[in-house]
This record gives sequence, structure tokens and C-alpha cells, in this order.
Amino acid sequence: MFKKVLIANRGEIALRIIRACREMGVETVAVHSTADANAMPVRLADESVCIGPPPSKDSYLNIPAILSAASLTGVDAIHPGYGFLSENADFARMVEEHGFTFIGPSAELIEKMGDKIMAKQTVQELGLPVVPGSDGGVENAEDGLATAEEMGFPVLLKAASGGGGKGMQVIRAAGEFEGAYNTARAEALANFGDDTVYLEKYLENPKHIEIQVFADKHGNAIHLGERDCSIQRRHQKLLEEAPSPVITDEQRDKIGTLAAKTVKKIGYVGAGTIEFLYENGEFYFMEMNTRIQVEHPVTEMITGIDLIAEQIRVAAGEPLTVKKERLRFRGHAIEIRINAEDPDTFMPSPGTITQFHAPGGLGVRFDSAIYGGYTIPPYYDSMIGKLIVHGRNREECIRRLSRAIRETVVEGVKTTLPLHDWILQQPEFLSGDYTIQWLENKLAERS
Ligand code: ADP
Repeated sequence: MFKKVLIANRGEIALRIIRACREMGVETVAVHSTADANAMPVRLADESVCIGPPPSKDSYLNIPAILSAASLTGVDAIHPGYGFLSENADFARMVEEHGFTFIGPSAELIEKMGDKIMAKQTVQELGLPVVPGSDGGVENAEDGLATAEEMGFPVLLKAASGGGGKGMQVIRAAGEFEGAYNTARAEALANFGDDTVYLEKYLENPKHIEIQVFADKHGNAIHLGERDCSIQRRHQKLLEEAPSPVITDEQRDKIGTLAAKTVKKIGYVGAGTIEFLYENGEFYFMEMNTRIQVEHPVTEMITGIDLIAEQIRVAAGEPLTVKKERLRFRGHAIEIRINAEDPDTFMPSPGTITQFHAPGGLGVRFDSAIYGGYTIPPYYDSMIGKLIVHGRNREECIRRLSRAIRETVVEGVKTTLPLHDWILQQPEFLSGDYTIQWLENKLAERS
């Protein structure tokens, strides 16, 4: 086992990793920008190193500074968390070249899955159903239009190197194609440094359902069930639940087993998520995330497994402690993402938290690095915490979440807590039968 781990991240996930390390007897090093000098992970880690000024590119994305901090503190391994450098193959490679262990899959696999076109081809060959689309990138507007007409409108243009729901263009008619194609390429280049785009059939009303997978270096690969992440705004997840209210045990078994087989065949090691769209009873592969996800706690709540601890053990070469035969899914879990944003306009609301009270009680978990008096810096993502609730069934879980939301006090900044409270009261949410379009349509109706 590692003696010391450096956490190349900030906020709630940095704290989450420190917690797992501490329980495992592993020392921790927090790195931070000058804006985060007073942050909770910095206070709670065994050691901390300042790696640069506030902008992410100069600190949390500053590879030489992070590697220097790792050398300086003599760590064995680096955990990248999610976002920032977590899916950067060059970073993973450099970490290993400098003699540290990267807590995640190999650079080659990050690269392969990071290119969405290559990822789709790879998993399709291994038997996973994929969203119908172009074979590879779209070279020019004429070819693209021909493919789109063959598939039938609406279609979706996506960036091969895309992420975070950015740079997607829905096209509903042939006349829109050329303009959308040029915009998509320009946006892809500006956001991801790669203007390769590809086409997919645009599914009108799907759910987003993803499978958590895990594999070790000893040939064990398992799936830990699904998460339903269909409550989205602008293709960004706001609430996640497990199990999905619409998936049967048989469906879970079938798609989960396929997902586990796929990761085994590609030689994947560590935690991963295979994302699907789900429509009319069918799953369509979208992409694989080669890291821990924001919404991993809902899986932890229904399986009782600490996924971060498992990631660390697997990276250290130990076998998975979870055995397929002993894996049980218990009850229901929901996570809400609490963003420091205006709940009506979604404008970021950084500033100082004047009053703070965390919710508690049976089955309530609050993963956050905020505290009373904490100042949310304006430089980073607006998510300030996650409230995760477990219940014996979905109904109990929703009631408990609703109760926990009303107990939570965050004053001084605006948060999305009132939005979540409202979502939980909507009949469509209560029915479980909502899709990725639902929230956006409902918000449009409301305003
Ligand atoms: P990113 O990596 O940018 O998050 P994804 O491929 O995971 O991109 O897609 C993000 C979201 O975009 C999905 O959760 C879904 O809401 C929507 N989406 C992606 N592909 C399609 C599609 N073919 N049809 C309809 N919606 C889609």
C-alpha cells in the first residue's frame, strides 16, 4: 500500500479523497492555488503545497508544479479526482515517468476512450450497442449532410475530444447543416484544441443511464449497477439516483455484464463509467469516463463500497475487495448537486458563506468542503457540495431528501437548493419516468 498520496484537485472531491486515505492509514498532500489557501482540504491534509495563482491553468492544470510538489513531499501516488487533469493522458504518462503511480487507468486507455470516435468503434467491436452515427469524423459539410440524410433528421454534431456537455449542435433539417457544421468545428477547436466532429442520431427523449465499472490488475472486472442521471440542464447533471426507477433487474444484469466484459477485454484498470442513452427499452453507448465521477456516492450508498478506497487499493496492485457473488444493491439513493448559483437564472453566486448548517440524521450524507465563513472563489466550478440520501425505497429516499434539503442552511450566497426542493415535488419526477429533456422543458414552462 502507498504511504503517501498527493491529491491533484480541490473542493469536495479533494476532501473525499483525504477521508478515504485517512481511513486507510495513508498520508495525504493537498496542493492548492493561492485562492484556496484557507480551503478545508488544505487544513485537513497532512501536508499542503501551493502550486500557483488562482486561474486553473496556472495551478490545478499546472503539471510541472504538481509534479514538483509530488517530488518535494515524497509521495508514492497521485489521485486526480474528477475534472482538471483526471482524463489527461499526458499527465498520467508524466506522473508514471516521474516514478509515481497514477490512480487511474493507463495513459493509453485514457487516450483511447478520450477520443470519442475511437471509443465508440472499440466498444462496438466488443458488442456494446452504440448510438447510430457517422463512421469516424465528418471530413466536410457535403459528406456530413449525406450521412445525416441517410440517418434521417434530427442529428447531433459532437466534438471528438469534447466533454462537459459542450460544443454539441442539434440539426433538424438539411438547410441548417452547413452553418451548424462550421459552428461545431469552430467551437470544438476553441474548447478542446481539436476540430474533429462526428455525427450521431439525435435521440428525442432518452434517459441518461450509466454503469459503474471497476477492474483490477488481476483480471477481475465487475459492474456496480447503474445511475440514472437524466435530470439535466444544458446537458449537465443536477441530480442522480440509483437504481434507475425504470430499469429492471434483468436489464441491469444484461447491460452491466456487457459493460464489465468490455472493460475486461480492453484491459482497463480502476474505476470507470460507461454512459448510455436509454430509449424505448434500448441502451446506446455514448462514452466512457476513465475516472471517478461526481455522482459516485449514490453507488456507494446502495452497495456499501467505498469507491475511492477501492481505487487506491487497485492502483497499489491489490485485488478488488468486492466479489460479484457478494455484491448486493440495497435500497435507493439520490444525490443533488448544490451549486452556488441563482436558482432561477443560474448565474454564479460566489462570495462568503455567512451561516452554514449541514443536514443530518439517518441515511443523510453531506459531501462538501464548505464551512461557515468560507469564501467561495469565483475562479472555479460553482458546485459547492453534494447532498446524498439513502432510503429503503425510492419513496422513503425522496421524503428524506426533501426533509434534509429544508434543514440545510447556506446563507450569504445563492444556491440551487430551492430548485431541488421544487424538482422533488413534481409529479413527473415522482413517477420516475422523466427524460433528459424534462427539466429544461419544465423550467421553460415555469418562466
Ligand atoms: P460530454 O462528454 O460533453 O458530457 P456526452 O456524450 O456524455 O458529452 O453527452 C452529454 C449529454 O448530451 C448526455 O447526457 C445527453 O443529455 C446529451 N446527448 C449526447 N448525445 C446525444 C444524442 N445522440 N441524442 C440526444 N442527446 C444526446
